Amino acid sequence: MAKVKGDVVIDIEVCKGCELCIVACPTDVLGKSKQVNNKGYQYIVKVKEECTGCESCALVCPDAAITVYRKKKQAV
Ligand code: SF4
Ligand code: SF4
Repeated sequence: MAKVKGDVVIDIEVCKGCELCIVACPTDVLGKSKQVNNKGYQYIVKVKEECTGCESCALVCPDAAITVYRKKKQAV
């Protein structure tokens, strides 16, 4: 279990539901909500916890709606 663990936070009011991030994620962490945001777009949600923090989703997002966090394994 030496993997880097990542996490994503999605700004749902910025997201336009273009799905580029869903396609970009190698571990299928992202999916579409059934709910819509204030602009009427189905926004993106985390559907799994397998995020590696690779940042692919954040890099492809045209609206910078995704922030990626990476957690390193704690040194003992
Ligand atoms: S950082 Fe990488 S693994 Fe995590 S949700 Fe984004 S594309 Fe997927
Ligand atoms: S790439 Fe950005 S705007 Fe497009 S669906 Fe993903 S979070 Fe939303």
